[in-house]
Amino acid sequence: MKRNNIILNKIDVNHNVVKYTFDVSPEISEYFTSTTLFIEYDTDMSDVPPSILSIPFVSIFMAFAWITNSSLWVEEIDSTFYDTIPQIKSAYQDIYYNYPLKGRIVSAKFIKNHLNSLNNSSLMLFSGGADCHTSLIRLFDKNPILFNIQGWYTSPESTDYAADADKRDIIEFANNHSLNSAHVKSNFAHIISPRFDKKFNKKLGDSWWHGFVHSLAFISIAIPYACKFSINEIIIASSLTTGQNKPCASNSTTDSAFKYAFSGEVLHDGFELSRQDKIHIICDFQKKIKQPYPMRVCSFNDHNCCKCEKCLRTIAAIVAEATDPRLFGFEINGDLTSHWQSVLDESVALMGFKNEKLTHWPFIHKKMKENFYKMTNEQKKFSNWFMTFDFDKAKRKGLIKYYRKNFFKIIKRKLLLNQLHNK
Ligand SMILES: [Zn+2]
Repeated sequence: MKRNNIILNKIDVNHNVVKYTFDVSPEISEYFTSTTLFIEYDTDMSDVPPSILSIPFVSIFMAFAWITNSSLWVEEIDSTFYDTIPQIKSAYQDIYYNYPLKGRIVSAKFIKNHLNSLNNSSLMLFSGGADCHTSLIRLFDKNPILFNIQGWYTSPESTDYAADADKRDIIEFANNHSLNSAHVKSNFAHIISPRFDKKFNKKLGDSWWHGFVHSLAFISIAIPYACKFSINEIIIASSLTTGQNKPCASNSTTDSAFKYAFSGEVLHDGFELSRQDKIHIICDFQKKIKQPYPMRVCSFNDHNCCKCEKCLRTIAAIVAEATDPRLFGFEINGDLTSHWQSVLDESVALMGFKNEKLTHWPFIHKKMKENFYKMTNEQKKFSNWFMTFDFDKAKRKGLIKYYRKNFFKIIKRKLLLNQLHNK
């Protein structure tokens, strides 16, 4: 079977913007929405060598090459990073054991880079959610730079209300805690077309974004910045935990395999902790500092909406620690239980609890029982409701109501989709 190509033609550095132009074989071009990748840092990157700048390009597309048995070509690459690729690949193969990962990464030149000094310094990939807040609290003494990467921009000039709000909040948080932050804009999340998921999602058991790109991109985009400032440790907070066999791009085995410029390493922190353990650490810290500790757990939003599964899960987990969620950036006026009852009345049909109930809720229930005696009356009422409410039944009823209300709209949409398919 013929191998297809992804060839990096050029890396242009214009002060703080790094632009990669590449070609792909016609046979795989349908999976790409663009052949230009940009990464906009907030500092001048023109003194970073091309062999280091190649690392994000290779990392963002190497899983694509493995899955589609393609060859990925670059002119030069950092040899420390290149030597770790087989280990990274093997760690992914262990996760996606039902699908053979093939392909190859080829560089014309291998460059031995070294970080300039041996000072120990860290940067932490930071989104503002519960995982990275836990790692920050545990590793505060390292004084890490909070490094925020947003991959959903379409161009360096474009705006994105959720990503822009993340940046604003992280700068404010860093200032309040005497930390430095750095911010990156990129289009990496848009480049692989949804067609790829249509073809491969079922076979692989996970989507491109969740299963194969997010942490590879985050870690690798941080590497040129780390090299510029001789930072020898990149910290990424775990999102999964020990015992979870779910596929995900970010694992202790895959993330920790990354190495760069001889002494640069990646620390995947918190894999041994459950989500509830993490919330416990955060609540404990808030009690110590005696001031609100705002977090952002709501994805693709400029605030915690207090209406989605993720907000419900986090609020319930905080209540299970006998703590008030309003101290963590969840703005709920009035009683917690009444709030969530009215949210479910309105939108239970569109909410999904299946994964939540399996993965996170058992830990929350256990903690609610343990800490019940410490809770306020409002927290006790909410915990009783959360532990006994029949979410499945509510969802079934909500769906029937939703279908009745939207019957004609749904039929119209289905007819339209059929027409499009038949075109
Ligand atoms: Zn939310």
